[in-house]
Amino acid sequence: MTIFSRIINGEIPCYKIAEDDRFFAFLDINPVNWGHTLVVPKREEDYIFDLADDELADMMLFAKRVAHAMKKALPCRKIGVTVLGLEVPHAHIHLVPLKSEGDMDFHKKISDPDPEKMKQIANAITAEFE
Ligand code: 5GP
Repeated sequence: MTIFSRIINGEIPCYKIAEDDRFFAFLDINPVNWGHTLVVPKREEDYIFDLADDELADMMLFAKRVAHAMKKALPCRKIGVTVLGLEVPHAHIHLVPLKSEGDMDFHKKISDPDPEKMKQIANAITAEFE
C-alpha cells in the first residue's frame, strides 16, 4: 500500500482539503509554497498516464474544483499545475499557488512548515471548495 493510500484511509494524518468517492486532496507536507496541494485518485496507480482515460479526465476536473477553491482562499495570481511522481508511486497532481515563476521551484521546499498555519490554510481552501 502506498503512503498516499494510508493517508486516504486515515492511517496517517494529513491536512485534508476535499474528497469525493474517487479522488482526495490534501496539503503537501513539504510545500514549495504555502497552499501546495496534492490531488490523488483513491485507486492506486503509479504512473498518471497509466490511468484510464475517464479516470484521468475526472481527476483533472476534481483538481479544477480544488484549484478554484485555492485561488479564492489564497493570495495568488494563478494556480500552477505540475506532475512529477518520482518520489511516491501513486499518481498525483501538484497544485501550487503562484505569484511568480519562482513559487514553483521544487528545489526550494518549506521544511517543517508551521502546523497551525498549515491547518488554517487547509481550512480556508476547504471552505471555498464547491
Ligand atoms: P513526487 O512523487 O511528485 O516527486 O513527490 C511527492 C510529493 O509528496 C512531495 O512533494 C512530498 O513532499 C509529498 N509527500 C511525500 N510524503 C508525504 C506525506 O506523507 N504526506 C504528505 N502530505 N505529502 C507527502
